[in-house]
Amino acid sequence: MKPTHVILALAFLATSYSLNAQTNYLETVKVTDSIYVFKPKINWYLGNGIAIIGTTGVFFVDTYTSPNYALEAINRLKKITNLPVRYVLNTHWHYDHMYGNYEFKLAFPECEFIMHDSTYYFLKTQVKPLIDQDLELTKQGLAQFEKERKERKASNGLAITDSMVPYWDQLIEETKEVLADYRPVKLVNGDITFNDKLTLRWGNHTLKMMHLKQYAHSEGDVIVWIPEKRLVITGDIVVAPTPYETQPNAAGMVDALQYIINMNPAIVIPGHGPVQYDLSYVKLEKEAFEAYLREAEKAVQNNIPIQEASAYIKLDDLDYKFTKGDDLAKWAYRSYFRGHIISQVYRKHNAIPKKN
Ligand SMILES: [Zn+2]
Repeated sequence: MKPTHVILALAFLATSYSLNAQTNYLETVKVTDSIYVFKPKINWYLGNGIAIIGTTGVFFVDTYTSPNYALEAINRLKKITNLPVRYVLNTHWHYDHMYGNYEFKLAFPECEFIMHDSTYYFLKTQVKPLIDQDLELTKQGLAQFEKERKERKASNGLAITDSMVPYWDQLIEETKEVLADYRPVKLVNGDITFNDKLTLRWGNHTLKMMHLKQYAHSEGDVIVWIPEKRLVITGDIVVAPTPYETQPNAAGMVDALQYIINMNPAIVIPGHGPVQYDLSYVKLEKEAFEAYLREAEKAVQNNIPIQEASAYIKLDDLDYKFTKGDDLAKWAYRSYFRGHIISQVYRKHNAIPKKN
């Protein structure tokens, strides 16, 4: 063996070890005797997977953004129960909640996939083309993360400060691991789709799957309400530690959050971030959507140009409740919430000047 081959073999061993160990990305959170959350250790970008163990199988909610995460969740689940996954629910069509469907299908061929009618449509039209180019897009993603890391500037132009670097390092490392032992992805679309409500009797639990009509985070937001535990699985209506605003419908988010508050849950499992045992964060999130909608409207009415809107709108105390002054949280808050909601209001009023 030439020395270079030894190095390659060692690198390969190191890679296979890290992939086989599959203990890197997630933590297991036991919520009740039969409900577990496999939560990504880093927040944002990476969503939660949830297992509800019944008498004949497991009902699993959302399947992560990459095969690595889905595989690790499956391995963790197998340590808890011998029962197979019989159903997977995708709360909405965004790829970070369904990309691992194929790994679940490989591990549990009998498993059936449940989603809203519109999610089925968007997986076919929006996500299938991405899956078809997955290898190329993953390589592009890695190059992008490396460029941002090197230039210390995120894609939206915000600076990557010292305390934010480990997040980029982790994104780079995890993407390299996906590429090192690349597993082709195929679209696994819904077997059972519904438009309004679907109820499944599942062991000691009633799983009430409900479509939220507010079109708040996506066209087909589905939440799961388990009355026996007063537990709600919210998809991306609730995202912690900082909220998401991706759909141009912040008013819908306010209504959807109020709908969840009215259910008076004792346990909230959000789309991203830690499990919550009271409503304080959900109420705070609603307050933030309302406050930014109100202040952005005020900025438009006062003819503040959009370039100055961010400085004009001062909600520092509210912002701090989410970010606690942490640079990475501030970046996420500005990038995925604050900036989006301000430009959304300006767009609604056609108050964004055309580029010349
Ligand atoms: Zn989403």
